[in-house]
Amino acid sequence: MSPDSAIPTAAAPARPAAPAMLPVMRPWLGEEEAEAAAAAVRSGWVAQGPRVAEFERALAARLGADEAVVVSSCTTALHLAMVLTGAGPGDDVVVPSLSFIATANVVRYVGARPVFADVDPITQNVTAATVEAALTPATRAVIAVDQGGMPLDVEPIRALCLRRGLELVQDSACAIGSTYLGRPVGGDATLAAYSFHPRKLLTTGEGGALVTDRPEWAARARRLREHGMTVSAADRHSSSRIVIEDYAETGYNYRMTDVQAAIGLVQMRRLDELIARRRELAADYQQALADVPGLRVCADPAYGTANYQSFWVELADGFPCTRNGLLEHLLRDGISARRGIMAAHREPAYAQQGEVDLPVTERLTDRTVILPLFHEMTQDDVARVVASLRAAAHGSAASPSNGQGDD
Ligand SMILES: *Cc1c(COP(=O)(O)O)cnc(C)c1O
Repeated sequence: MSPDSAIPTAAAPARPAAPAMLPVMRPWLGEEEAEAAAAAVRSGWVAQGPRVAEFERALAARLGADEAVVVSSCTTALHLAMVLTGAGPGDDVVVPSLSFIATANVVRYVGARPVFADVDPITQNVTAATVEAALTPATRAVIAVDQGGMPLDVEPIRALCLRRGLELVQDSACAIGSTYLGRPVGGDATLAAYSFHPRKLLTTGEGGALVTDRPEWAARARRLREHGMTVSAADRHSSSRIVIEDYAETGYNYRMTDVQAAIGLVQMRRLDELIARRRELAADYQQALADVPGLRVCADPAYGTANYQSFWVELADGFPCTRNGLLEHLLRDGISARRGIMAAHREPAYAQQGEVDLPVTERLTDRTVILPLFHEMTQDDVARVVASLRAAAHGSAASPSNGQGDD
């Protein structure tokens, strides 16, 4: 294992004089994952096979979902979701601008146009009201995001979509294990997508899943992830007869490997512990930061619980430094933080779509900072971040103000 490996079980190097840089995120991986991956390699079956099927069953069970279709990433899961909604050229799809750019990109993959909705100033998520304001006569579908693992209030959005005859896709990339009205986020969705990228909670290196309550959509998604084949390669391989497959429509190669699924199965068993620890650390932050002037700290909404995939703070008007000033201040204290959620409408790829009016999105993207939070973080680490934030809030050693600009 290389000394700079992110594997937390690696022996710690001799303690340097200065405390090591505190990362914003570090996946929780160990010997069990390494063993499971090695076992998949030794089995001789490394492409999509029995472990992917087992991972799908474990996910569906954990989420209370009818079907989970495991794919190569959340982006590819969302692309398949777009195909299933039937959205295409001439259609509009409402998405939040305040999201990772993949949410908007997948709309363009099917030739449709993303139309940006603003978000709620407290949860950072779209609401029925912000979605409704973005509807056009051409709207075909809506992608609603559980941003940073913060559950969105999905019931009113579902009701709106039902009334208007729109398909609803939940981008729950970051939200595995968050809850809505006491149930796992996305588990009862018509279409929901999750990510297993290391920046998220449960990781397979790269990976994603599409959850659906329609068996015919799950079957089609399984064909589409494998070139549109009517019989999977794994099924053909394990058959004792000659099986000739058909290709009914244009598909993709969006498969996950069995090596990745083997890691995912171990991570699934760790999920509850992972979430419990993240919520514990989030509570420590919330308590310690409650009286820091000029900071608003993220918190569970009344209708659910967050997995705190991203733990963020918003800087109020009176805060003595800018977002970038605060990031620099933290960096000087050996703390790696991140700007808040990006806004897709500000990126060159989307800016030419024209003027949009997204005041809450712009405020949040300019004024939020994501703090370190990972499974093996200690109470001392939290105290270090809190002390640095406290110093910044009181104007000590903070950078001079240079305006609330872009990065
Ligand atoms: C990370 C993320 C994605 C993309 O996930 P990948 O698995 O990396 O493709 C999509 N949507 C949101 C909201 C995300 O945070």
